[in-house]
Amino acid sequence: MFDKILIANRGEIALRILRAAKELGIATVAIHSTADEEAMHVKLADESVCVGPPPARDSYLNIPSILAACEITGAEAVHPGYGFLSENARFADILAEHHIAFIGPKADHIRLMGDKIEAKRTAMRLGIPCVPGSEGGITDDKEALRIAKDIGYPVLVKAAAGGGGRGMKVAHSADDLSSALETARTEAKAAFGDDTVYLEKYLERPRHIEVQVLGDGRGHAIHLGERDCSLQRRHQKVWEEGPSPALNDAQRPEIGEICAAAMRELAYAGAGTIEFLYEDGKFYFIEMNTRIQVEHPVTEMITGFDLVNEQIKIAAGSPLSITQDQVVLQGHAIECRINAEHPSTFRPSPGKITHYHPPGGLGVRVDSAVYAGYTIPPNYDSLVGKLIVHGRNRTEALMRLRRALDEFVIDGIETTLPLFRTLVRNADIQNGFYDIHWLERFLATGGLDQG
Ligand code: ADP
Repeated sequence: MFDKILIANRGEIALRILRAAKELGIATVAIHSTADEEAMHVKLADESVCVGPPPARDSYLNIPSILAACEITGAEAVHPGYGFLSENARFADILAEHHIAFIGPKADHIRLMGDKIEAKRTAMRLGIPCVPGSEGGITDDKEALRIAKDIGYPVLVKAAAGGGGRGMKVAHSADDLSSALETARTEAKAAFGDDTVYLEKYLERPRHIEVQVLGDGRGHAIHLGERDCSLQRRHQKVWEEGPSPALNDAQRPEIGEICAAAMRELAYAGAGTIEFLYEDGKFYFIEMNTRIQVEHPVTEMITGFDLVNEQIKIAAGSPLSITQDQVVLQGHAIECRINAEHPSTFRPSPGKITHYHPPGGLGVRVDSAVYAGYTIPPNYDSLVGKLIVHGRNRTEALMRLRRALDEFVIDGIETTLPLFRTLVRNADIQNGFYDIHWLERFLATGGLDQG
């Protein structure tokens, strides 16, 4: 096992990793920018190193500075968290060259899943169901017209290098297709420096369902159930829950086992998430995330396993300590991502938190790095904290969520707490009747104003 690890992240996920490391008896090194001197992850770590000025590209993404921090402190491994360098294969390679362990999968697997066309090809080869579409990149408009006709309109033009929903355009008919191709290529070139695009059937009312997997890099891999992340705004997840209200007890192990088998075949190491769109009883692979995800606590609450603890042990070379039989889903969990944003305009609201009172009690977990008197800097994403509740069933989880949201006090800044207080009381949400467009429709039709 490692004696000391460096956490190449900030905010709640840095704290989450720190907690797992402390429980394993591992010393921790925090890194921070000059904007984060007062941040909680810096206060709680055994050591900390300033790696640069506020902009992330100069600090949390500054590989030479982070390497130097490892050398100075003698950290043997780096946990990248999510975002920042977590899916940067070059960073994993550089660490390996310096004999520092990367707490994540092999660099080749990060690279493979980072290219959406390659990822989809691999998924098909591994027997994972995919959205019908072109086999690879599309260079020629005539070819695109032919393929679109085969799969049937509407079709979605997607960027091979895509991320964050950029470089995606829907074409409803052959007349729309060439302009959709043109726009997607231009957007992709500007955002990713690569204008390769491909075609997929556009699913009109799918849910987003993702499967959590763990592998030990030696061909042993398991799945830990699914999360339903259909409630999204601008392709960003807002509310996540597990198990999915849309799946039954037969579908769940079936898709889980397909994913676990694929990970065994790849000899995948660490935690990963295989994301699907789900419509009319069928799963369609969209992408794989080769890192811990924001919503991982949902899975922890229903399985009882500590995913970050498992990531660290796997990176240290331990075989997987959990067998598939030991994964028994208990009850229901829901996570709300509370952002420092205006609850209806979603304008960022950084600033000083004057009062802070997190909810507690049975089945309530708050993963956050803020405190009363803390000033949220304007330089990073707006996540203030995650409220996760667990109940014996979905009804109990909803009841607990409602009371926990009502108890939560974050003063001094605007937060999205009021949005969640409305959602938890909404009939569609209570019934589990929602797809990936539900939240946008709700907001566009003034759902928030009606309280
Ligand atoms: P990104 O990496 O840019 O986030 P994804 O492939 O993960 O791209 O897709 C992001 C979101 O776009 C999905 O969660 C879904 O809402 C929508 N989407 C992607 N592919 C399709 C599709 N074939 N049909 C309908 N919606 C899609």
